[in-house]
Amino acid sequence: MPELPEVETTVRGLARYLDGARIARVEQRRADLRRPFPDGLVQVLTGATVSGMGRRAKYGLVHLDRGQTMVFHLGMSGRWRIEPEELGAHDHLVLETEAGHRLSLCDPRRFGSVDLVDSAELETWPRFAAMGPEPLGDALTAAHLKSALAGRSAAIKLMLLDQRIVAGLGNIYVCEALFRAGIDPRKAAGRVSTAALARLVPAIKAVLGEAIEAGGSTLRDYAQPDGQLGYFSKQFDVYDRTGQPCSVCGAPVQRLAQGGRSTWFCARCQK
Ligand SMILES: [Zn+2]
Repeated sequence: MPELPEVETTVRGLARYLDGARIARVEQRRADLRRPFPDGLVQVLTGATVSGMGRRAKYGLVHLDRGQTMVFHLGMSGRWRIEPEELGAHDHLVLETEAGHRLSLCDPRRFGSVDLVDSAELETWPRFAAMGPEPLGDALTAAHLKSALAGRSAAIKLMLLDQRIVAGLGNIYVCEALFRAGIDPRKAAGRVSTAALARLVPAIKAVLGEAIEAGGSTLRDYAQPDGQLGYFSKQFDVYDRTGQPCSVCGAPVQRLAQGGRSTWFCARCQK
């Protein structure tokens, strides 16, 4: 599943072809992904110029000069193909720029989505309105976490996966950030000390930043936006490393289930 670093990498890769470009031709090859493509998508995109690109949580943003933004989510298996030699059954939305570049949104399992949102109303769009701060932005601070987590008895691991606390953090990066900050994932969120939260914030930014640097990371093969299939080869400290020695102390990495998902951690390093 594409995580925030893959989405960021995708947006940066797409921007090389799309940012500032005029979209000359659009082909919508089916009616829906996870939900229907928006009414009028082809008409809105055709002839529009891309005035900027961005990301919010795990959503990619393509701002148009017509005052609307195309918001895409890659779901479980989505990716953008750059200059595909031929289109297949899973290429659902194809954009061609005036400069002749062809970009295709390919999504075999169709858990992804495409929406059109008024650019001026993005912050209040229902899927964004309740989201917490971007993990890589200045608004994610120890003070924000202290107040958002105050009095919460749920485990810190689970609270960090809550998009209202921090936007766009997935299982991999929560496990890695908690390890790096030396925080026990089972600890009640409201009981994590201010000093530990002050370690956690830079740990979150670092694990995400390193993954973006590495071109993103994922467990399954995933096409980089230059159209080449490949695995991102990011090494994790604890994620999916059950029984392997902790990189700091050598104790075996442990796995436990929290909220129906696996957590990996070092019981000796994380208190
Ligand atoms: Zn350890």
